Amino acid sequence: MAILVTGGAGYIGSHTCVELLNAGYEVVVCDNYCNSVPEVLERIKQITNKNIAGYDCDIRNRAGLEKIFSENSIEAVIHFAGLKAVGESTREPIMYYDNNISGTVTLLDVMKEYNCKSIVFSSSATVYGNNPIPYEETMVTGDVSNPYGRTKHFIEQILGDVYVSDNEWSISLLRYFNPIGAHESGLIGEDPNGIPNNLMPYISRVAIGKLPQLTVFGGDYDTKDGTCIRDYIHVVDLAKAHLCALNKLKSDPHSIDAYNIGTGIGYSVLDIINAFEDATGQKVNYKIGERRAGDLPAFYANPKKANEVLGWHAERNLHDMCEDTWRFQKNNPNGYKKD
Ligand code: NAD
Ligand code: UDP
Repeated sequence: MAILVTGGAGYIGSHTCVELLNAGYEVVVCDNYCNSVPEVLERIKQITNKNIAGYDCDIRNRAGLEKIFSENSIEAVIHFAGLKAVGESTREPIMYYDNNISGTVTLLDVMKEYNCKSIVFSSSATVYGNNPIPYEETMVTGDVSNPYGRTKHFIEQILGDVYVSDNEWSISLLRYFNPIGAHESGLIGEDPNGIPNNLMPYISRVAIGKLPQLTVFGGDYDTKDGTCIRDYIHVVDLAKAHLCALNKLKSDPHSIDAYNIGTGIGYSVLDIINAFEDATGQKVNYKIGERRAGDLPAFYANPKKANEVLGWHAERNLHDMCEDTWRFQKNNPNGYKKD
């Protein structure tokens, strides 16, 4: 029996494939490489010394998915495939709804056809919107300010409807906070196309000299140092949460549950810059600029449910996150591109 990992060549998916293979799972990846490269699968093989089946396939391609399900015995799906850039989603909402929502609906329909009814879904803390912090799973979700976030909220609702219609489904909604860091081997990590939207890849590209300066988006928030607070989580800890979720679906099937996957600790943008400088010895050139539209001043998780119900705990600290980010950046100054 194998686990199908959609978006398995991406940042979080690749780290999860490593953990799955190390735990003895057979892994099948479905990725259309719209935001990744096939080279990632070679790196995963190099880290684990295990084989991985890769399909160049879009999740909206029903025939392609049917081929994957007919050629493999898939026991569960971990569903990462999706577009994730908030700004782009505001400019191209149809593309986001088509890719993320239509893609998920096609995937679920093919899963049903092949009687595979276990899924772990990559959701996001963004579904909490303007709730008080720390965020808890019992809070009402959906007050979201952009199409990307709405795709996460809608897919959670769709999965809820699927479960109500047939409670043989086993569904885990993992609400990620801010994943950063990389595998300790320095072989896989985050490699965004073009100018990064997210803080940590931006910092590491400034540190390596590919970008001149980081702009800190806003220095006048009502926080300890005026910059925004987030809950940063090491991507390997996040990857391990997927294994805990799979185990939970096995021991307690026919259920649907949401879990916060964060550390519960909030760090400011300046905390991250300082920690990066401490961990790597690299100076990060930055200036304080205007606020970015849509940013919330502060949010972090209450991870108690994931700790207690999934038996999952974040084990890596901010120093590890910075050190591992830098190792990947240093070893791969051009990311996965060889030139
Ligand atoms: P990523 O872009 O690195 O990985 C996504 C992968 O999915 C890529 O390899 C991409 O090529 C693939 N993909 C996209 N659309 C596809 C399609 N239609 N068919 C097949 N493959 C497709 O992103 P990531 O950071 O690894 O995020 C993985 C998931 O986690 C996404 O669903 C994202 O929304 C969610 N998430 C990410 C964050 C974060 O900060 N990185 C936070 C919360 C949630
Ligand atoms: N941020 C920043 N400069 C950048 C990118 C991000 O100051 O170039 C800040 C952003 O305002 C937020 C935090 O860093 O407070 C994390 O942003 P990111 O986009 O990584 O994640 P988000 O929490 O917005 O999903």
